[in-house]
Amino acid sequence: MAGMTTSAREQTGRSLAYLATLPVDLVKGIGPRTAKRLGEAGIDSVADLLLHVPRRYLDRSQIFDLSNVPLGEEVTVGGTVEKVNRRRISRKRTMIEARITDGTSTMTAVWFNPYLKISEGQEVALSGKAELFRGRLQMKAPDLDRLDDDDSLVTGRVVPVHPAIGGLSTRQIRISVDNALSRATPITEVLPDDMIDRLDLVGRNEAFRNVHFPEERADADRARARLVFDELFRLQLALALRKRRQIDEARGIVLDVDGELATTFFDSLPFDLTGGQQAVIDDIRSDLASEHPMHRLLQGEVGSGKTVVALAALLVGVEAGYQAAIMAPTEVLADQHYLSTVASIEDAGLAPAGTDGAAGTANLFEKGDSPEVRVALLTANRAISNAASDLSRADLHALIAGGDIDLVVGTHSLIQEGVEFARLGVAVVDEQHRFGVHQRVRLREKAQDYDPDLLIMTATPIPRTLAMTLYGDLDVSVLDEMPPGHMDVPTRRVGPDDTSVHDLIRSEVAAGHQAFIVCPLVEDSDKLQAKSATAEYERLMGVYPDLTLGLLHGQMRPAEKDDVMRRFRAGEIDVLVATTVIEVGIDVPNATVMVIEDADRFGLNQLHQLRGRVGRPRPDGVLPAFCILVADPTTPEGKARIEAMVATNDGFRLAEEDLRIRGQGTVFGARQSGMTDLKLADLLRDLDVLVTARREALALVQQDPKLIEHPDLAEEVRLLLGDDDEWLQRS
Ligand code: ADP
Ligand code: MG
Repeated sequence: MAGMTTSAREQTGRSLAYLATLPVDLVKGIGPRTAKRLGEAGIDSVADLLLHVPRRYLDRSQIFDLSNVPLGEEVTVGGTVEKVNRRRISRKRTMIEARITDGTSTMTAVWFNPYLKISEGQEVALSGKAELFRGRLQMKAPDLDRLDDDDSLVTGRVVPVHPAIGGLSTRQIRISVDNALSRATPITEVLPDDMIDRLDLVGRNEAFRNVHFPEERADADRARARLVFDELFRLQLALALRKRRQIDEARGIVLDVDGELATTFFDSLPFDLTGGQQAVIDDIRSDLASEHPMHRLLQGEVGSGKTVVALAALLVGVEAGYQAAIMAPTEVLADQHYLSTVASIEDAGLAPAGTDGAAGTANLFEKGDSPEVRVALLTANRAISNAASDLSRADLHALIAGGDIDLVVGTHSLIQEGVEFARLGVAVVDEQHRFGVHQRVRLREKAQDYDPDLLIMTATPIPRTLAMTLYGDLDVSVLDEMPPGHMDVPTRRVGPDDTSVHDLIRSEVAAGHQAFIVCPLVEDSDKLQAKSATAEYERLMGVYPDLTLGLLHGQMRPAEKDDVMRRFRAGEIDVLVATTVIEVGIDVPNATVMVIEDADRFGLNQLHQLRGRVGRPRPDGVLPAFCILVADPTTPEGKARIEAMVATNDGFRLAEEDLRIRGQGTVFGARQSGMTDLKLADLLRDLDVLVTARREALALVQQDPKLIEHPDLAEEVRLLLGDDDEWLQRS
C-alpha cells in the first residue's frame, strides 16, 4: 500500500538510533576502563559495538586436514599447539615458531611478531598460505585465531572472528557482542517493506544476529550485505537530503540558452567537439535553462578538453546578460586560460573593438550585430583585460563591479574581499580538488540576490564510487572520451644513473619538440623547493650544454614566470626544468617528453597529472610523447605507484589503484571534512550496493523530501552521521 511506512507498523524493540545513544559500558562485562579504551578505538555506544562485525568467519567444514592442504593458496587449517619456540634472531627481531598437529599431520607456523600470544596446548586456527620448506609443511605469518573449546558461542559450525580492539581479545569481543545482542534485540526495522522486498534484503534484526553469530556461512554474507546497504544508504540519504535542501532553498536564475554566441565560438575553433564534450555541454545547457542553480561536477580525464566545455557554459551566461567567472588554482594556469580564451575570442571575431575606452561601454547586446566579449584576468599579480589597456587593479575592480567585464579569469584573487560582481551568473572552478569547499562557496556568494550556476571541474580521477560518495550532492558528468588522435603516453622507469634519458631528450629536441623535467619533491617549504629546483637546473645545464633550458618554480617573480612560460610556449626554450607548478592544466602540445625525477615520491594522482602535460592534442594531430619516471623505489607504496603508472594511462584505473594503495580511509580526508570512514562498506568491492543505495535514497527523498513519513530513518541519519551530517548541511 502506498504511504505505508515502518512507523505505521506495530513496533517493538529498539531502534539503532536509540542504541547509538546508549554508552557501551551498559553492556554486561564492559566496565568503565574498557569502555574508555573502546572509546579511543571509536566504539562509544552499543550501536558502535554491534557494528563492530567479524573480520572473518571460520567455517569448520572448510578447515583443511594438514595431510591434505593445497600449497600456495589461502587456506585455513586447525589443530593443537604442540610446541612453541621463541628465538631472538637480532636485536630487533624475534622469531616465534609453533608446531601444530591435527591428528593427520603436523605443520610449523612462523611469525616475527614478538607480541604474538600463543601457548602450548591451545586449539587454534591458522589462515594463510601453506608451503613446503625443506620438505616440511609450513606457514609464514598466518593469521592466528584461538578456538577455545569451552566457549559456548563457538560450538556452531561457523566461528566469527571479531577484530580485537580496545584491549579486548577476539573472544572477549565475541562475548560482549553476545551480551549486547541479548539486551538490544529485537532491533527494529527502519526500511520500508517494499524496499526490503524489492532489494531482497534480510531484516535488520536478523542481520545483526547473523552477522555476528551465523548458523551458516551464507547467512553471514546476507547479513553483512544488509548492513553494508544500510551504511551506504544512510550516507546517500544524507546527501540526497542535502541536495534537496539546496534545491528548495536555492534562488536560481533562468538563462536563455538559445543564443548564438557559443555556437559562433565553436564554429571558429580549429576542431570539432567530441561526442563526449557535446553531451556534457547539453547537460550544462539544460542546467542553465532550469530554474534550479546548476551544481555540477565535471570529471574529465586529463586532456579530454574540459576548457572548451567550461567556455560553453561561460559564454551562454554572458550572452544571457550575466557575468561569468572561472577560477583556477595557479597563476600559471589562470594566465594560460586567459591567453587562450582571448585568442579564441579574437578568432571568433568576438573581441572588443579597440582596447581603450571600452570601460563604460554598454552591455554587448546593445551593440546589435557585433557582440563582444570583454575578458579580464585577475590574479595576485595581474589585472588586465582585452577591453582596456593600462588598467590599475582598482580600475579592473571597478569594471567588474560595474558589469563592464563579461568574463573574468582568475585565481583565489576572485574570491577576495573587494572583488564585487555586478551580476555573476555562471561560475566555473577548474581543478577543483585544489580548492576547499569554502572557496567554492565563496565564489558562489559573489552573486548577491540569487544563486549563480556553478560548474566544478576536476581531472583528478576519482573512482566513480568515491565521486558518488564524496560529491553525492552534485550532479556528475563524466568526460572520458579523448579528442581524436589521442595516444597513450608510453611510460617507463629508469634508474637515477640511466643516461638513455639524455639521448631521448636530445633526439626529441632535434626533431623540433620540447621536454619537461620535473624536479624532486622537497616537502619542507616552497623556499627549499625553489632552492633545490635552482640547483637541479644548474646541474642540468651541465648535462645539456647544447640545449636551451628554462627554470620555473613557485618562488619566481610573476614577470619572470610569465616570461619563461611565454618562451616555452613559443618554442624558444627546449627543456623546461620545473617544480610541480606545472602539475595541473598546462597545455603546450609541442612538448613530447615528461621526465619526473624521484618519481616514487610523488602521489599517483600527481604523476598522472604531470604525465598529462604531454601527448596533448593540436589541431593537426597529437605528437607521440614519452614519460620517463626516474626512480629507485624503496617503499612498497612507491613501487606500486610506479608500477601502476607504467601499466596504464587510464585515470580511472589509476584512481582505483590509488584507493587500493592508500586505503579508503585516507581518501575521505581529501574532502577536507571529518567524514566518517565507512565501517563495513568497501568502496571498491561494494560499488553495486552503492549505486543501488544512491538510487533508492534519491527516490525516497523525491517522494518524501523531509522524511516526514519516515521518522525512524530521519532520526538514524541524524544520530549515526552526527557531526558529519552537520558538516554535510553546512557545505
Ligand atoms: P583538460 O581537460 O585537461 O583541461 P584542455 O581543455 O586543456 O584539457 O584541452 C586539451 C587540448 O585539447 C587543448 O589544446 C584543446 O584545444 C584541445 N582540444 C579540446 N577539445 C578538442 C577536440 N574536440 N578536438 C581536438 N582538440 C581538442
Ligand atoms: Mg584543464
